[in-house]
Amino acid sequence: MDPLQCAADTAGALDSGIAGFLLPELPYALDALAPVIIAETMALHHGKHHSGYVKNLNAALEGQGYTNGDLVNVLKQVKEDVAVRNNGGGHYNHAMFWVTMTPPSKDGAERVVPEPLGDAIRKSFEGGLEQMKSEFGAAAKKRFGSGWAWLGVDPKSKGLKVTSTPNQDNPLMTNIIPQHEQMIPILGLDVWEHAYYLQYKNDRASYIENWWGVVNWDKVNKIYQDAIEDKPYVLN
Ligand code: MN
Repeated sequence: MDPLQCAADTAGALDSGIAGFLLPELPYALDALAPVIIAETMALHHGKHHSGYVKNLNAALEGQGYTNGDLVNVLKQVKEDVAVRNNGGGHYNHAMFWVTMTPPSKDGAERVVPEPLGDAIRKSFEGGLEQMKSEFGAAAKKRFGSGWAWLGVDPKSKGLKVTSTPNQDNPLMTNIIPQHEQMIPILGLDVWEHAYYLQYKNDRASYIENWWGVVNWDKVNKIYQDAIEDKPYVLN
C-alpha cells in the first residue's frame, strides 16, 4: 500500500475515535495464576468480558477522543450515563485487577506485604493484615449479586479502608458512590460469577480465600504510594 495512503487511513481511524480505549494485554500467561484461577476462566474473563467493556465504552464515547490515560477523569465525572458508568468502570476495574495479581509462589508460601503498605495496614486495622483480610473477605462475601470488594485510601484521613461496590461501579465515582465509601482503590476483587463460577461453582468463599495467594503485593504497594498523594492508578 502507498505509505501516504496508509498514514491517511490511520489518521482517519484516530479522528473517528476508533482507537479510543484499548484492552491491555495480560502481564502473564493465561495459565499463570493456576491453580487459583484456571486458564479457561482467564481466557473468557479477559478476552470476552473485559474486551466487551472496552468495546462498549468506545461506542458510548465515540469520537470524544478519550484514551486509557483519561479513564480516571471519566469515572470521576460520570453521573447519569449508564453505558459510561458500567463500561468505564468495567474497563478500569479489570485493568487494575490483572496487574494486581501475579503467579502463586512455587512453595505455596504467603508473600510478605512490603513497606510502607504493611505499616499502613497495621495502622488502619487493629488486627493488622489478618483483620484487613477478614474485613475485605466479609465485604466480598456479602456483596449481593455482582460487584467488587475494595481496599483503598480514604481521601481525607489517608488511612486504608475496605468497601464494596455493586456491578462495575468504582469507589472513584464521586457522583455515584456515597461519600463515606469513596476512596482511591489500591486493590479490588471481582466477585461477579464470571470471575469464578467455571472453577469454584457457587463457592465464592473459597475463591476469595485462595485469591490472596495471587495478590501482587509489590504492585499494590506502588499503587498505594501514589494513592496517598491523591494519584489513582492510571491505565497505560
Ligand atoms: Mn469481571
